[in-house]
Amino acid sequence: MLSKVILQANIDKVAKYFDRADKIVIVTHVSPDGDALGSSLGLLHFLETQEKTVNIIVPNAFPDFLRWMPGAKDIVRYDKYAEFADKLIAEADVICCLDFNALSRIDKVAASVAAAEGRKILIDHHLYPEDFCRVSISHPEISSTSELIFRLICRMGHFEDITQEGAECIYTGMMTDTGGFTYNSNNREIYFIISELLSKGIDKDEIYRKVFNTYSEGRLRLMGYVLYDKMEVFPQFRSALIWLTKEEQGKFQYVKGDTEGFVNMPLQMKGVRFSVFLREDTEKKMIKVSLRSVGTFPCNRVAAEFFNGGGHLNASGGEFYGTMDEAIERFKQALIKYETLLCE
Ligand code: 5GP
Ligand code: MN
Repeated sequence: MLSKVILQANIDKVAKYFDRADKIVIVTHVSPDGDALGSSLGLLHFLETQEKTVNIIVPNAFPDFLRWMPGAKDIVRYDKYAEFADKLIAEADVICCLDFNALSRIDKVAASVAAAEGRKILIDHHLYPEDFCRVSISHPEISSTSELIFRLICRMGHFEDITQEGAECIYTGMMTDTGGFTYNSNNREIYFIISELLSKGIDKDEIYRKVFNTYSEGRLRLMGYVLYDKMEVFPQFRSALIWLTKEEQGKFQYVKGDTEGFVNMPLQMKGVRFSVFLREDTEKKMIKVSLRSVGTFPCNRVAAEFFNGGGHLNASGGEFYGTMDEAIERFKQALIKYETLLCE
């Protein structure tokens, strides 16, 4: 049995909105990850069993290793089809905002979502949600938005309407946002939910392979290169840094998603509890920053204070506008400022 995480009043409102809706739009954050797509597609497959017209809109591309997800090929990319997406948003009876907590996280989609008249529902697990939806189902204590979607569907009394395809998507989101159930994954109810998803016929081992074991040769060689040449360890701060320029990415035929998970690698070293990865973006003129920590060290505070970002306690991100050298310098300033917390 699952405990009642989501407030009953919110379940009732969402059920009512869905019931009265005909056209539903789901939007999720920029550079969608496994949980963004898993929650969106999990909800889409459910709503389609309720005879709704559903469209998912994402701000930009998502990684190749998520392309297999059932329904992924029909997702509308705003950077390619803005006009069509704007029409869908304007005409939607309900707009579901999944896996993000602030309009800025959906980039250019934000203006049309803000202006839309449809009822807006937020379903998310990031801290400090902005107040831009009629209903906010915000649970930072839950490790994935996909898990919240499962809970929502069940609480509305529709477990039977979760299809195998929907279950595959929900499982993918739960798996990716916990690193294959290796962090944020001690809540025993997660395993009850997995058991329920297995009853829908999903092949969890195959999903793992499809997501984690489909890398290109370039990605593996790039991994070897960064570990050998581009990782600096700061033992006195229990921290490590990896950085990668645009030229280096070019050398290894970088495609989007190739550096996914690199930021976690330094944490495999004994004693390292804080890791930062700096990557010169190939599209926008900025340096994308990924931060990870283990234990109580709040990498989201470093993200907010030093890199215009935010996120979760142990996994956060941000952006830096300047040169790589300046970004590295900024990282070093953060180490000095947080020395006490890092070493306690
Ligand atoms: P990743 O390093 O995987 O890109 O991001 C990890 C987490 O950091 C995301 O789930 C998200 O919560 C947060 N995050 C990533 N990039 C940004 C950003 O630019 N701004 C904010 N506020 N959060 C971010
Ligand atoms: Mn998530």
